[in-house]
Amino acid sequence: MSYPDPRAALAAILQNSNAGRNAMRAVGRNNGGGGNASGVVASHVGPRPVTQTRILEECGQTLIALWEQSRAHAVLLPSPATRGLVLPGGNPQTPKNEQGCWIFHNTVSDTFRVETWTGGSTRDSCTPTAPAPQANEVLVVDFHTHPNVGQEGYLDTPSPADIAAVGTAVTGLVRSHGGYHWFGKAMPA
Ligand SMILES: [Zn+2]
Repeated sequence: MSYPDPRAALAAILQNSNAGRNAMRAVGRNNGGGGNASGVVASHVGPRPVTQTRILEECGQTLIALWEQSRAHAVLLPSPATRGLVLPGGNPQTPKNEQGCWIFHNTVSDTFRVETWTGGSTRDSCTPTAPAPQANEVLVVDFHTHPNVGQEGYLDTPSPADIAAVGTAVTGLVRSHGGYHWFGKAMPA
């Protein structure tokens, strides 16, 4: 088996090339073998697998903040106090507002970075911003909230449009009153 040269891979990464990133990922996967033909041992052990547990533990604070911002616990149906509120959305009479973000995994530092969507939202939709991965980052999660409940005429689970949007390219994650729902590209628990 031939191994990519880690020094060359690192140099390429510093030049921000895709070839370098791919080579470095290959080095990370092969580190279990302990070194390579040239005797060079990579100084890091390679990224750990990205799992649902890691996402919730390492990005949970942001996901909870987005859930709070979506006003999921606002009154379910228009009340005298909220009837006057006019907001965009399928049913405008609510302060509920979906929120979403991208989660990127840095395959070299093995850390996550959250990029919150700022494209505007309504009670039942939110507009993703264009994902902007930085050097060594891979998009791993497409997250958004479902602040509405069945009494308001909404599904707890990902909608057909949600499922179609992520396809199998990325892992989808919806936070609703029923908890977290994973869909799209499979991610280990
Ligand atoms: Zn949705």
